[in-house]
Amino acid sequence: MRHLMATAALLLTLGPAVGQEYPTKPINIIVPAAAGGPTDAISRVTAGAMSKVLGQQMTIENMGGAGGTLATARAARAEPDGYTLLIYHVGLATAQTLYRNLPYDTRTAFAPVGLITDAAMTVVARSDYQPATLMDLIEHLRKPATKASMGNAGVGSASHLCGMLFQSETKIQITTVPYRGTGPVMNDLIGKQIDLSCDQATNTTPQILGKQIKAYAVTTKTRLKSLPDVPTADEAGLKGFELGVWHGMFAPKGTPPAIVQKLAAALRTALKEPDLIKRFSDISTDVQPQDRATPEAAQKMLLGEIDRWAPIIKASGQYAD
Ligand code: ASP
Repeated sequence: MRHLMATAALLLTLGPAVGQEYPTKPINIIVPAAAGGPTDAISRVTAGAMSKVLGQQMTIENMGGAGGTLATARAARAEPDGYTLLIYHVGLATAQTLYRNLPYDTRTAFAPVGLITDAAMTVVARSDYQPATLMDLIEHLRKPATKASMGNAGVGSASHLCGMLFQSETKIQITTVPYRGTGPVMNDLIGKQIDLSCDQATNTTPQILGKQIKAYAVTTKTRLKSLPDVPTADEAGLKGFELGVWHGMFAPKGTPPAIVQKLAAALRTALKEPDLIKRFSDISTDVQPQDRATPEAAQKMLLGEIDRWAPIIKASGQYAD
């Protein structure tokens, strides 16, 4: 009897198995970009669908600046209890090389949950920008008298990476204007305060279709179904210019594996939702296949992308610090 009571007392102190009851309160998702941009849109749609699966609200905390590294540092230092998460993209991997003094090591700072989406980039301009085609644009930018401005979300962002590749491929130097996300870049492009941007189709599709901005190219091998009139960069004359941007969910290192697995399972369920798939496809954004919405696939992607971009960034000599 005494033995039984002792066992019961021990079970009470241990409480329910970690992860079994999780989540018991709202989960905060740190988003390293301003509201209104692609990372924000992807995070909000994902959070809405996952909230339903988990039975708890997922809130979004937008924190732009320093190419996403301020927010990433905050997420890396957060309590690893499953109540603070990060949704970010390829910039997580490129920052590891672009910033020589990061306050975290991207390779070890996170417990990846899973990949969420994949999207093409688009080379876009203000609606009244003169050059008609991508080749006209390149010719225009090559003229010494041309003064063009390109908005991006800071060194380390996907828009920065795309602009950097565009400039190195074309051997052109363009003045870049950093913002806290490409939501505000889009506002200024529509308002004709800046000339150019290279941003995810997630953010540019509605404005291209609405003719509020001009599109020169998409960075995929084949044209996007949602933008059938926009040529690929390759078709438009910039051979082999391809860039896709993945987004994933990450928890701070030390988050209990049972919680990470529960989040990954909820993510996979959310990514099967027809409403979520439609909302993403309307903004030219692909949902990752089920076997990539896993901790293993996200970890592999993160480490692989750090290694893939490091030599390209080093060769460009364009460091942030
Ligand atoms: N698209 C942005 C980038 O260039 C960030 C954002 O989502 O606002 O990384």
